[in-house]
Amino acid sequence: MAKPPILDCPTVIIGGGIVGLCLAWFLAEEGVEVAVLDDGTDAGTTANAGSLHVQIQSRLIRRFPELLPGVEAALPMYPLAVRHWQRLTKLLPTDIDLRLTGGLMVAEDEEQLDFLRTKAARERTLGLEVEILDRRALDRIAPYLGPAVVGAERCASEGKVDPLAANTAIAAATRAAGVVLHRGTRVLAITPDGAGYALQTAAGMVQARRLVIAAGAGTGALLAPLGVHVPTAAEPLHMNVTEPAAPLIGHLVQHAERMITMKQLATGQLVIGGGWPARAGSAYRPPEVLRTSLAGNLGLAVHIVPEVARARLLRSWAGINTTTDGRSVLGPVPERPGIFMALPGDAGYTLGPLVARLVADHMLGRRPELDLDAYTADRFRAAAPAA
Ligand SMILES: Cc1cc2nc3c(=O)[nH]c(=O)nc-3n(C[C@H](O)[C@H](O)[C@H](O)COP(=O)(O)OP(=O)(O)OC[C@H]3O[C@@H](n4cnc5c(N)ncnc54)[C@H](O)[C@@H]3O)c2cc1C
Repeated sequence: MAKPPILDCPTVIIGGGIVGLCLAWFLAEEGVEVAVLDDGTDAGTTANAGSLHVQIQSRLIRRFPELLPGVEAALPMYPLAVRHWQRLTKLLPTDIDLRLTGGLMVAEDEEQLDFLRTKAARERTLGLEVEILDRRALDRIAPYLGPAVVGAERCASEGKVDPLAANTAIAAATRAAGVVLHRGTRVLAITPDGAGYALQTAAGMVQARRLVIAAGAGTGALLAPLGVHVPTAAEPLHMNVTEPAAPLIGHLVQHAERMITMKQLATGQLVIGGGWPARAGSAYRPPEVLRTSLAGNLGLAVHIVPEVARARLLRSWAGINTTTDGRSVLGPVPERPGIFMALPGDAGYTLGPLVARLVADHMLGRRPELDLDAYTADRFRAAAPAA
């Protein structure tokens, strides 16, 4: 005789990153009974830098040019996403160090500045407020930048949160709303079962009527056996944080050509990342820091902001980012009634609360603030491998 399920819940969310947690919280607040299953291994949410991105990241244009059309189409999401973070902070039990002091994407020569001029012109046509600053203007607002910098693109609506503080506060709010978080629970398979789905986990069977896939890089593998194609890939990335330093960097700093993001938390700690690679782990093993990324990332940080050399490195780590086609994958899966997608596009931490709100509104029978039709998994159908 089949064993009874270890959990039977009307709505189950697979994935307890920023998206899964916010979505569970928003649904529970409206009286939906919801549980979150998370294997606790590969969340970009626990590894990320807390940058709130609005302008298109140069790393994306240069490394993944094929993703650009999708990213451009989704550009209006980013200023809206930052506004959702502003709303969220007011609901959270503790401060998360949200500061929207603007972002600077710096250039070191005329060619890079031209790249930024072209990018800014394109972004303006897509509705972003951005401007190009020369070195004199930068000296007034960002004197910490080193002599190598000749100009920058400024996007006033960019900023940051402290991701550790934000994740802690969001998890607390989610629990307070009555959501049960099942950490360390990996979903091995999803099977249609009557009017819902049966989820096979190592601990036993879980029964759900409605299912949300907020599983980041694990999404593609979960859906493929159901005949739904979502091409997620895991991208292991490197991060660093220093010990507290005197106030130095007031903006979110990026580079026109090279991989760097830098910012300073209210604690004084400098957070340095920007997409340097890490070594992929294996199942249940996290990715590992590469010495070359450690040296390259920190060397570049000191080159752009020389005072960074005085700060002491506290910790370096690696985590898994998820890539698809640059655009979020959201909303119902028509061929699998009861399954909903909640996968943010590029800069997924920035998008997390917005994406969760859009999917929650759809599931609650409301019209989301953005039309989800442009974001469904349908767009991958033509590229699905033959069954
Ligand atoms: C080093 C690094 C720095 C980053 N910096 C930034 C930044 O500054 N700003 C920004 O906007 N974005 C940043 N990102 C991207 C951002 O972190 C992610 O896009 C975002 O956190 C994705 O959130 P999510 O909830 O969709 O997925 P995740 O946070 O990846 O969470 C998905 C969860 O689902 C779990 N899961 C997967 N499969 C299964 C399964 N079968 N069963 C159970 N659980 C499963 C995973 O283990 C994970 O815990 C960064 C990413 C990395 C790696």
